[in-house]
Amino acid sequence: MLYKRSSALFKDAAQVIPGGVNSPVRAFKAVGGTPIFAKSAKGAYVFDEDGNRFIDYINSWGPMLLGHAYAPVVNAVIEKTKQGTSFGMPTEIETQIAELAVSMVPNIDKIRFVNSGTEACMSAVRLARGFTKKDKIIKFAGCYHGHSDAFLIQAGSGAVTFGSPNSPGVTQGTAKDTLLARYNDIDNVKAIVAANKNEIACIILEPVAGNMGCIPPKNDFLSELRTICDAHNILLVFDEVMTGFRLAKGGCQELYGVAADIVCFGKVIGGGLPVGAFAARDEIMNHLAPLGSVYQAGTLSGNPLAMAAGYAMLTSINNDVDLFKRLDEKTAYLHNGCSKVLMKYNITHTINRVGSMISIHFAEDDVVDFETAAQGNNDRFKSFFHGMLSEGIYIAPSAFETWFITDALSYKDLDETIAAVEHVVQSWT
Ligand SMILES: *Cc1c(COP(=O)(O)O)cnc(C)c1O
Repeated sequence: MLYKRSSALFKDAAQVIPGGVNSPVRAFKAVGGTPIFAKSAKGAYVFDEDGNRFIDYINSWGPMLLGHAYAPVVNAVIEKTKQGTSFGMPTEIETQIAELAVSMVPNIDKIRFVNSGTEACMSAVRLARGFTKKDKIIKFAGCYHGHSDAFLIQAGSGAVTFGSPNSPGVTQGTAKDTLLARYNDIDNVKAIVAANKNEIACIILEPVAGNMGCIPPKNDFLSELRTICDAHNILLVFDEVMTGFRLAKGGCQELYGVAADIVCFGKVIGGGLPVGAFAARDEIMNHLAPLGSVYQAGTLSGNPLAMAAGYAMLTSINNDVDLFKRLDEKTAYLHNGCSKVLMKYNITHTINRVGSMISIHFAEDDVVDFETAAQGNNDRFKSFFHGMLSEGIYIAPSAFETWFITDALSYKDLDETIAAVEHVVQSWT
């Protein structure tokens, strides 16, 4: 495949945009080479500026659960746009999407919309601190909650790929309030809680981790966190920016039967427009301004175009009774196909999968936390990434990312993908 025009565009971009990209992981730094510039996308495919077609497993890093340029979303945005693009006044569509989200997700009474997953998580933590009147938070190594200061402590994917576990610019003062725990290690959490009695406002986590590759929670991990939180007046915050409306209508609370106190959303909830949200029961949400004293705001929050896109997206998800079953079956099919090929060629690997999230780790041992994820063979991943790309399959350019399965994928696409995996690993042996 030729990337002539992408290379030229990247060169121009790098003159005026740091690293040529507006979000670091797009830059291909972890895998080498120059990023591909997207021109358009439809369904399961993305087309680049050189006219190449790729089967897309990034899907805008999660939002495109139902495929690119999904007609109900596109039409909703076009219609809304004609009425004006922003007012800075309340609009009816905000209530419509809020009512729908509250009806789909367990244990939430109210939801506030923001513009990104970062904002959602940042605001959720402020709310948790304001509500509990405590300062410290527990986060897990390898979990990503956006790029606000408090979270840039061993933050998975992008942050790890670029080799700075703690970003310069994050002050010691901020870092000291973020306590770092090991994912899937409940004893570690217990020890941290015991050592910081009455100081911890919340435990925040990805209930299925997706930013160190896909890592499911072990058997009772989530319910044991719930127990710890109840015992110590700590709020449990599920960062469902990736998993929300993707793994089940009600997200991981529904999937694992564990209640969270605050839930963060992003990605799917905006249908591809910049949207985030955080939600909780009344008792907690009523602490937010203007009802309460915890301040949080946004000029473009609840933007009508973004709300129209999100509402169309959630409506489709809510009305499709077979969606999650279909997604699960497609992902399982891909899983089985890839497993067979990798075993046939004796390639050391671990595949993790939950619903429509899947990742291949070129690692020997089970991948259960950041440490075990980091043991994967990165040279192998680089070669795999570029091999797949030249086969017309676009996966995330980092070993610490999940593949996102979209409902737009056909079984023919999946077969094509499995055949590509075989071509690539064949060339290694
Ligand atoms: C993507 C992501 C975020 C950040 O969302 P942005 O919209 O990129 O700010 C936060 N948490 C998780 C789990 C994510 O996957």
